[in-house]
Amino acid sequence: MSVLAASNISISFGGINALSNVSLKVDPGEIFAIIGPNGAGKTTLFNIISGLYAPSSGRVALHGEDVTGLPPHLLARRGLSRTFQNLQIFFRMSAAENVMVGRHLHERRNVVAHLFTLPSVLRQNRVTREKAEELMAFVGLRDMTERPAGTLPYGALRRLEIARALATEPKVLLLDEPAAGCNPVETAEIDDVIQKIAARGVTVVLVEHDMKLVMKISHRIHVLDQGRTIAEGTAAEVRANPSVIEAYLGKH
Ligand code: ATP
Repeated sequence: MSVLAASNISISFGGINALSNVSLKVDPGEIFAIIGPNGAGKTTLFNIISGLYAPSSGRVALHGEDVTGLPPHLLARRGLSRTFQNLQIFFRMSAAENVMVGRHLHERRNVVAHLFTLPSVLRQNRVTREKAEELMAFVGLRDMTERPAGTLPYGALRRLEIARALATEPKVLLLDEPAAGCNPVETAEIDDVIQKIAARGVTVVLVEHDMKLVMKISHRIHVLDQGRTIAEGTAAEVRANPSVIEAYLGKH
């Protein structure tokens, strides 16, 4: 069974069809990329899958269960988490605290189960702190835990954003342009982190403009153009597809 499925998704904004009948299925453990020229509908599709927009028609299923229209925090509890193209960092908080904010989403239901007694809240905070430090180390930021997030280099911030999304312990992680604005060294670090995440068994779905990165790490690639699916396949298949070449070359 696919871990994530979008079926016949359509949505329009003021008469413009941003997505028309788009379907995709992602297998467990895959690194699955969604690509396409500017305005193709990639972020809109992410926004629908992650519960920010409700589609005009179509369904989203997670682990075979219909989750269409569920808000992001409920999707997080069902194992889906995402990052955003524009960093959503609290710059005055420490790097670890930024990760703990993400972790809190996951812990809250346990805190409720403990009826908000002070000892359980304190214990919960300790667990959260330890988990945040572990995630910081996982993305290669062990030495930056205590630093105000605003003082971290740009590439580190992109990895911090990923650590925060991992704090809810997702089974499916959506990464919206994880390497946006990164130099080649920073992109290589993002590449490593994504591969480590997949090696842990987390399914990764990414939107990304860096074609070198996409072609290197993706098991399968779904190509959108003007709100429609024009191709899907391995890197080699997509690269050789005349519709894909036309969609990219025709616009530059
Ligand atoms: P890019 O690579 O430039 O980020 P994209 O593939 O992510 O592009 P989307 O941002 O999903 O494309 O946009 C798809 C289309 O939907 C565009 O024509 C865009 O202008 C339109 N669109 C997206 N969100 C909205 C919105 N909230 N209101 C109106 N139009 C929107």
